[in-house]
Amino acid sequence: MTQDTPISPIERFAAILRASQRAVFFTGAGISTESGIPDFRSPGGVWTKMQPIYFQDFVASEEKRREAWGRRFGNKDGWVGAQPNRGHYAVAELIQRGKAKAVITQNVDNLHQASGVPADRIIELHGNASYATCLSCHRRYELADIEREFNSTGSVAPCPHCNGIIKSATISFGQQMPQLPMQRAAEETLSCDLFVVLGSSLSVFPAADFPLRAKQNGAALVIVNRDPTEMDELADVIIHEGIGDTMTEVIARL
Ligand code: ZN
Repeated sequence: MTQDTPISPIERFAAILRASQRAVFFTGAGISTESGIPDFRSPGGVWTKMQPIYFQDFVASEEKRREAWGRRFGNKDGWVGAQPNRGHYAVAELIQRGKAKAVITQNVDNLHQASGVPADRIIELHGNASYATCLSCHRRYELADIEREFNSTGSVAPCPHCNGIIKSATISFGQQMPQLPMQRAAEETLSCDLFVVLGSSLSVFPAADFPLRAKQNGAALVIVNRDPTEMDELADVIIHEGIGDTMTEVIARL
């Protein structure tokens, strides 16, 4: 009696990655929960305990701005000091080896940069919480300087160059998706031959549209996420395991 040895999902993922010339990674909260960063949207997450401050309110109200900066510097966002984990380093290694061209991320925690991925290979759909910018002239401001000012004056003064409002460089609830990153993400999605989702439930549109478009364009689709996602039925390989463990095993098979 003969029996085919079943091929594990990790082996299938590794085989697809070996054959790929141009992979793109798409990362969500699940890759960073392995670094101890809470998933804001999950049950029990930050947004179930604390109302988000909407963009319109931040712009309209000095009081809301104080509240937002107070949360930020009180570390109520819960991510200051987090370090990249094996999942981030695996993505960095694949980009460095030329296997992957870009990482599109829903995260704002700067951990892909911290793991060594060049900034120009990282497409941030929701911005970056590790610095601030002027909403009018887009000058960059460092949080350490703003924190010092906030702690001594209780507020954050407008941009000294243009009098615009200074805000954490994240995309808030109610704020328009950033045009250039969305466009770059679409381009990478349509030019990849393998689209790998790491730690996203793929429930937030328009971001969740990218794997669908990659698949429709002929790319292979691999999803690694603890819980089932809305796109599991489209995927060539689905792995409901940890990202650090999975990526470590996949890289060992390349
Ligand atoms: Zn300005």
